[in-house]
Amino acid sequence: MSKILDIQDVTVSFDGFKALNHLNFAMEEGELRVIIGPNGAGKTTFLDVITGKVEPTEGAAYFKGKDLRKRKEHEIACLGIGRKFQTPRVYLNLSPRENLELSCNRQKNVLATLFKQTPPAEKRTVAGLLETIGLDYKADIPAALLSHGEKQWLEIGMLVAQSPDLLLVDEPVAGLTDEETAKTGQLLLSLAASHSIVVIEHDMEFVRQIARQVTVLHEGTVLCEGTMDQIQNDARVIEVYLGEEAS
Ligand code: ADP
Ligand code: MG
Repeated sequence: MSKILDIQDVTVSFDGFKALNHLNFAMEEGELRVIIGPNGAGKTTFLDVITGKVEPTEGAAYFKGKDLRKRKEHEIACLGIGRKFQTPRVYLNLSPRENLELSCNRQKNVLATLFKQTPPAEKRTVAGLLETIGLDYKADIPAALLSHGEKQWLEIGMLVAQSPDLLLVDEPVAGLTDEETAKTGQLLLSLAASHSIVVIEHDMEFVRQIARQVTVLHEGTVLCEGTMDQIQNDARVIEVYLGEEAS
């Protein structure tokens, strides 16, 4: 197996404050990794380093052996890293089908995509994606009419439409109902069959549903890694989370 991500001794300083502090992290191709940690632990900054939004002050970051430090955000996206932000970014006046068609055609002209016939192969891809994200029965209504959860799934579908090798997903179930949360878990598990995925999440029930390997971040560094059972019984993790509840 080869490493899809290799983060070596990365520090990110904001005016002297270390949002990441000598962080080391590695992940194999095909893994589904969940990252948890209290507020301010550095989880979002960690994703910012991978996507090139933030440059490490110290250390090195590699994606499939390629140095990410000197690459711009769009170059990193082209290498095959797709990121889903917390709030859905879908075109509300377009239908789920049209949103997915646009994502399949990112490199082509947007207007041409909307007004020309979609080639048969792409139609199949879009139909398959609609099924995967469970929106085939709402494919042609405006996305504005979708629930928050359905918009999240649509955005995950739009990400997958661009065929990234690595999916980065930041807090996908915040604000979702229990039922939507469970469906999101199933969706990520099904995508994990063909993608490497990093999921950042707070919702422990959800983490338990999808987690294989879990990494716990605390104060900008890795506190521990392991299965959900190992994590939950780790004295350091218990202390960090109880400390958060107490404050
Ligand atoms: P998490 O996502 O785990 O809640 P973040 O990565 O957002 O944590 O933030 C880690 C720490 O770094 C926080 O204390 C936050 O206030 C700080 N931080 C994040 N981004 C910046 C920035 N651009 N400038 C200064 N401090 C920042
Ligand atoms: Mg965050």
